[in-house]
Amino acid sequence: MALGSNLGDRAAHLAYARARLGALPGTRLAGASRVDETAPLPGSGPGSAAYLNQMVLLETTLPPADLLAACLAIEAERGRVRSAGPRWSPRTLDLDIVRYGTRTLHQPGLTIPHPELPRRDFWQREIAEIEAHVHV
Ligand code: AMP
Repeated sequence: MALGSNLGDRAAHLAYARARLGALPGTRLAGASRVDETAPLPGSGPGSAAYLNQMVLLETTLPPADLLAACLAIEAERGRVRSAGPRWSPRTLDLDIVRYGTRTLHQPGLTIPHPELPRRDFWQREIAEIEAHVHV
């Protein structure tokens, strides 16, 4: 699972996500990469800030669709910015299911492995880092 944040207290958003993901029913946080800082993704608007990114390894009994629903709920919990009044900001916390074991899924709204994986070198680096330290 990939965690990303480029708005507000980025490290706090990542810490919140790690805690919430690890406390989901039937779920355990089994590993984590270091936190990386990466440039805004191509196509981000002007003035976009750099991202903090981290890959985490979850052991879970939740099916992929339930895990995705939990991710969207956790994003929403961190998605409110109160600077100039309540405002939705989807980039406060971004959670992506990058892989789910060895499964392949092509459902409306859920593709696994994540289609961006081949293009995101930092995801591949983070996965390699976890695999070097955790027996998976
Ligand atoms: P974004 O906020 O740009 O990351 O897009 C989130 C949407 O991408 C979610 O509402 C999902 O329906 C969809 N999506 C498709 N595949 C995945 C995946 N592997 N992990 C997370 N979201 C996914």
